[in-house]
Amino acid sequence: MLESPLLNNVAGHIAGQWCVADSGKTMPVINPATGETIAMVPVMGESETVRAIESASQALSTPVTVEQRQEWLNHLADLISGHSKELGRIITHEHGKPWKEAQGEAEYAASFFRYYAGKVDHLRPRVLSERPRDLNWTVYSRPAGVAALITPWNFPLAMLAKKFSAALAADCCSVIKPSSKTPLSVVALFSLMEQVGLPSGKANLLLGPAGEISDVLCAHEAVRIISFTGSTGVGKKLMAATAPNLKRLALELGGNAPFIVFDDADIDLAISSIMSNKFRGSGQTCVCANRLYVQTGIVDEAADKLAQRANELKVGNGMNEGIEMGPLIDRNAYEKVDRHVKDAIAKGAKRIAGDPSVEITDKGGTFYPPTVLRGVTAEMECVNDEIFGPLAPIIEFKDEEEVVQAANRTEYGLAAYVFTADTDRARRVISRLMFGHVGHNTGSGPTAEAPFGGMKHSGFGREGGIEGLHDFIEHQTVPSPD
Ligand code: NAP
Repeated sequence: MLESPLLNNVAGHIAGQWCVADSGKTMPVINPATGETIAMVPVMGESETVRAIESASQALSTPVTVEQRQEWLNHLADLISGHSKELGRIITHEHGKPWKEAQGEAEYAASFFRYYAGKVDHLRPRVLSERPRDLNWTVYSRPAGVAALITPWNFPLAMLAKKFSAALAADCCSVIKPSSKTPLSVVALFSLMEQVGLPSGKANLLLGPAGEISDVLCAHEAVRIISFTGSTGVGKKLMAATAPNLKRLALELGGNAPFIVFDDADIDLAISSIMSNKFRGSGQTCVCANRLYVQTGIVDEAADKLAQRANELKVGNGMNEGIEMGPLIDRNAYEKVDRHVKDAIAKGAKRIAGDPSVEITDKGGTFYPPTVLRGVTAEMECVNDEIFGPLAPIIEFKDEEEVVQAANRTEYGLAAYVFTADTDRARRVISRLMFGHVGHNTGSGPTAEAPFGGMKHSGFGREGGIEGLHDFIEHQTVPSPD
């Protein structure tokens, strides 16, 4: 079992108290690098969820000043940053990513609390200067209500930090449901939060599989917003389930990012950017390049360089020194990538990196070799599906029109990347790409300061930036002669 000073209580947290499941049931958390059980966590259900919602509803009736919220957010940022090593260690054990990368995730999580601490001022009442109808008009930013925050396993701490920091800034009260695959870093966050002194019910933590928990969150009238990050399939289910009582939804869903490299691009910059973008988190990030479109004039050189870099990546247990890529989250994830590789090869693609017979250390884990394919075409599964693994498929293209059409030929619209030295072309291409985040000559993903979110089936709502507060506030307008 994983020992940590931040995991003295491996439990849920409702109404200010640590708590186990009413049923007494527990489930294992598995380290994907070793296959070992590192913790047993409670399996909560309907009764705990109702209690958490009621406790959040009650806390909502006591408004909190902007100054107090600011102080909590800054304190949380300091605590997370000050414990980034230990939080990172926990993330590495439950997720598998290298320890250094996991510490980076903790710092990234802290940056959202810090950013929103600086932006709470935007939520003070605003008096209109115009005085229409000879009245004073005041616009208040009220908390949207009890917020259910449901998060995935791929950034177990950061995905929650994005939502929770904005919810806290807006004075919402939260019911948090992390992925049952990676709940421990959020448990650790609750442990740190004891030092902040949030009022009882301000933040509640439910552990266990989604099933009953999500049914209650969707049906309960007091929950006014569900902020969800996860797969498009589950996002659609939530939309259907919440339609009868018109809950507000913020959906951060799946992606299928095109990474476009034109002939005139700086190839070395493009390859380095692909390496850090594609293989981070073992390719399990929503903004990972899913399809590499490379123009004909440079495709041979780019493919050779990428294959060499991919073959050099050090794969293994993320707690070991020098490891650059960890395992996939579980067997299903492994099999999905393997299916994509086999499908592409059966349809004519060629594997140029990632020999599956190469021995990878730590055999107990679900490691997949960083793989590069050439000769990939539109009908292959890896082009149309979110791969979510360390497979880089190269698709050759001839001209701008062809690549814009191909890049947009997906139901998703989260992230895209364009590498070209021609700024006019960059402007033209980017304006036509139906993606919420488009990197120009950079593979960089989101940051706390900028709004991030999807178009089309990648969802709606934005996290980060001032826009990230919008989902958690209701504007109330008060005209008055006084
Ligand atoms: P997932 O299977 O959709 O699960 C996400 C969360 O939803 C987990 O907490 C899960 O709980 C819960 N859940 C599962 N079924 C549910 C249901 N019917 N109702 C309500 N909640 C339910 O996604 P995942 O595999 O964890 O994450 C990978 C996906 O997230 C990828 O598609 C990725 O692109 C996407 N993602 C998007 C962004 C973004 O910003 N757009 C960021 C990160 C990840 P359990 O774990 O208990 O099943």
